[in-house]
Amino acid sequence: MRVEIVAVGTELLLGQIPDTNSQWLGEHLAANGISSHFHQHVGDNHERIVLAFRTALARSDAMIVCGGLGPTQDDITRAALAEVLNVPLVRDEQIVATIRAMFVSRGRTMPDNNLLQADVPLGATIIPQTRGTAPGLVCSVGQKVVYAVPGVPYEMTDMFERAILPDLLARQRLAGETSVITSRVLRTWGASESALAEALGERFDELAGDGRVTIAFLASGIEGIKVRLTARGDDAEHATRLLAGEEVVIRALISEKLGDIIFGADQETMEDAIATRLGRRGVTLAVAESITGGLIASRLVSIAGASKWFRGGVVSYASEVKFDLLKVPRGPVVSPEAAEAMAVGVRSLLSSDIGLSVTGVAGPEEQDGQPAGTVFVGLAMGETVEHVALRLPGDRPRIRAYSAISALDALRRALDRAD
Ligand code: ATP
Ligand code: MG
Repeated sequence: MRVEIVAVGTELLLGQIPDTNSQWLGEHLAANGISSHFHQHVGDNHERIVLAFRTALARSDAMIVCGGLGPTQDDITRAALAEVLNVPLVRDEQIVATIRAMFVSRGRTMPDNNLLQADVPLGATIIPQTRGTAPGLVCSVGQKVVYAVPGVPYEMTDMFERAILPDLLARQRLAGETSVITSRVLRTWGASESALAEALGERFDELAGDGRVTIAFLASGIEGIKVRLTARGDDAEHATRLLAGEEVVIRALISEKLGDIIFGADQETMEDAIATRLGRRGVTLAVAESITGGLIASRLVSIAGASKWFRGGVVSYASEVKFDLLKVPRGPVVSPEAAEAMAVGVRSLLSSDIGLSVTGVAGPEEQDGQPAGTVFVGLAMGETVEHVALRLPGDRPRIRAYSAISALDALRRALDRAD
């Protein structure tokens, strides 16, 4: 059973609103073991909508259309559907009555425009509306099926759960197909997408032969690269077992070839990873930030309960503040020595167990003969005082954001080594 999603609306093509409906539908179809191989976006234009529908029906077993069911001139999904099905639009008096009653219950009279929402392709079944005014439609096309739902997200999700999903699952059972898809995201920091692809290349090819487990790489900007594993099993237990087995293999391959770059799974952020580790050890952290100007502290306090392990931070931006407040010896402030001294200084100033610092050149100008992107992270933990030297790419905002996550990652690695 392959389901194609067609999202209708010129605003989607113009990038004025993100297509969260297709995203939501894709996720919920997959979670229920239903494949969707194609998603389309099409503007509010009759010919192009007709073409999109014909294309979808030619290559997929079912189509979910969202958007364009409203009462205005640009809502033309119904008419396009009627043309593709080669049936007339007929006014459904039951729908007229329902819409009229909705208006009456809100103390308003129904504009004539709303009558258009009662026009349905001949032979269509109605998905009654409980939230908005437009009902959804179910139309059979031979063995195939079309579902049309409003674009408003909460109306769409309601109709999907109430009517579309049960119908799709019933069709899948009839066709003797049942499977469950489950997935897991491994989040990495410190390796490029191509390095990951190379490390997992052989495994990728092995898996392609079997087709039950797939790997995908998702670059997520300043939050690193995600490796998504997806498994399709006969039932939930089978899918979970396949996924767990593959996760062990992939973690081992990554660790062997690229080191300790996995900082979390699924929704876990770098600050979550830090919170878990500091909480487990029962130790506290203080940060001294120059180039990041508070970004690190801000990420840390986004975690509920951060006060248990986060003492605070010093934004030691001016060199004098580094010298006077953090007792950094006078000299170049973008240097390994300065980074280490900042970490030691803030640990003692704020009475924490661990001190973390970052100093660097955000650009665009160079500083002390160091090019933009030169960054040093300092770490003071127990007897150990160390630094990590980085050369980060990008413009000023990027360099600052990379510096923040890199500093947190350096701390994460040090905590894992110390375990
Ligand atoms: P209505 O009865 O409200 O007019 P409709 O079926 O005509 O519903 P649209 O007019 O296409 O739907 O969209 C209504 C609103 O729903 C849009 O303004 C937009 O905010 C939201 N919307 C539409 N399509 C999507 C989508 N694919 N993803 C997220 N939001 C969407
Ligand atoms: Mg509309």
